[in-house]
Amino acid sequence: MPESGSAQTLTADAPKGHGGGEPILVAKDLVKHYPIKGGVLRRTVGHVKAVDGVSFTLHRGETLGVVGESGCGKSTLGRLLMRLEEPTSGQVTFDGIDMYAQRGSAMRRLRRDIQIVFQDPYTSLNPRMTVGAIVGEPFEIHADVVPKGGRRKAVQDLLDLVGLNPEHINRYPHQFSGGQRQRIGIARGIALNPKVLICDEPVSALDVSVQAQVVNLMGKLQRELGLSYVFIAHDLSVVRHISDRVAVMYLGKMVELGTEDQIYGHPTHPYTQALLSAVPVPDPTLRGHRNQIVLTGDVPSPANPPSGCRFHTRCWKAQEVCSTDDPALVDRPDGASAHQSACHFAEVAKVVDTVDVSQRPEPTG
Ligand code: SF4
Repeated sequence: MPESGSAQTLTADAPKGHGGGEPILVAKDLVKHYPIKGGVLRRTVGHVKAVDGVSFTLHRGETLGVVGESGCGKSTLGRLLMRLEEPTSGQVTFDGIDMYAQRGSAMRRLRRDIQIVFQDPYTSLNPRMTVGAIVGEPFEIHADVVPKGGRRKAVQDLLDLVGLNPEHINRYPHQFSGGQRQRIGIARGIALNPKVLICDEPVSALDVSVQAQVVNLMGKLQRELGLSYVFIAHDLSVVRHISDRVAVMYLGKMVELGTEDQIYGHPTHPYTQALLSAVPVPDPTLRGHRNQIVLTGDVPSPANPPSGCRFHTRCWKAQEVCSTDDPALVDRPDGASAHQSACHFAEVAKVVDTVDVSQRPEPTG
């Protein structure tokens, strides 16, 4: 079983799904504002605009990567897609069904089809439950999926599928390494044979060498089970390797959306260009050719986002119109298909062409 310390790396084509299938999950103008309460009477004095008008389509067999700095709204977006939270407004359809209009058993049925894998394998697994109970819990909640007598075998099959020893079914989470625990989380996520998996920073808490193993496993499962992924992460290297398309978020909005080649090879939004320019390049001969863009200023508060383009307070290309007019997410100026950018002055820039998690330097310290 591959584990920490082995030298497994990502292969260029291994993790990616097929993409290009029929739409399966469609988000339209999704908004989530959290009220801010203040004063003695706890009146609403403002709103944190965590997600503010996000639209996209996820296709069958596709992986859509969602990247952005902490606080950009990507995890809130993931919870909205799972309906772990109700949106302020907007719509999500799964296979043509309006998710937020479903109630009771119809919603429970829908929950089987969209599952989530959380970031932290150290805290997301109940330490008092055996691995068998953790992975098999969805069978207790959705009791008609697997008959009681067949659940132990079903759990063992799942453990085998994710590269764990089925004989370890009675062990507890603390008896596994970080990478193995995330495999347990993935086994639980796929237990009900979902069609869509929302992956919220699924490898962020893992060592670099283990990240590659888990991402490769997710690619294998995608191909074998026909899964579609929304893969949320702040690490652009990891996202590149698993994603067919990538969405970049800033302060609750999607600022660029395109294929992996378009986003990494020809980014058009200044924020995407800045993010990519900050990705470490291990090869010193390439480092000198990098046009590193250093963003100044802090990320503004989502409770009080800047007017116009939300990025204008940090953007080196900003002009007067940027502080008054909010740019829409529209097709790239040269008309390249399926590449959209929310910038009044979007233009293609080749910032970096070597972002490779398998070559990334090991973290120090
Ligand atoms: Fe920068 Fe203006 Fe484009 Fe916003 S619209 S990213 S401020 S150039």
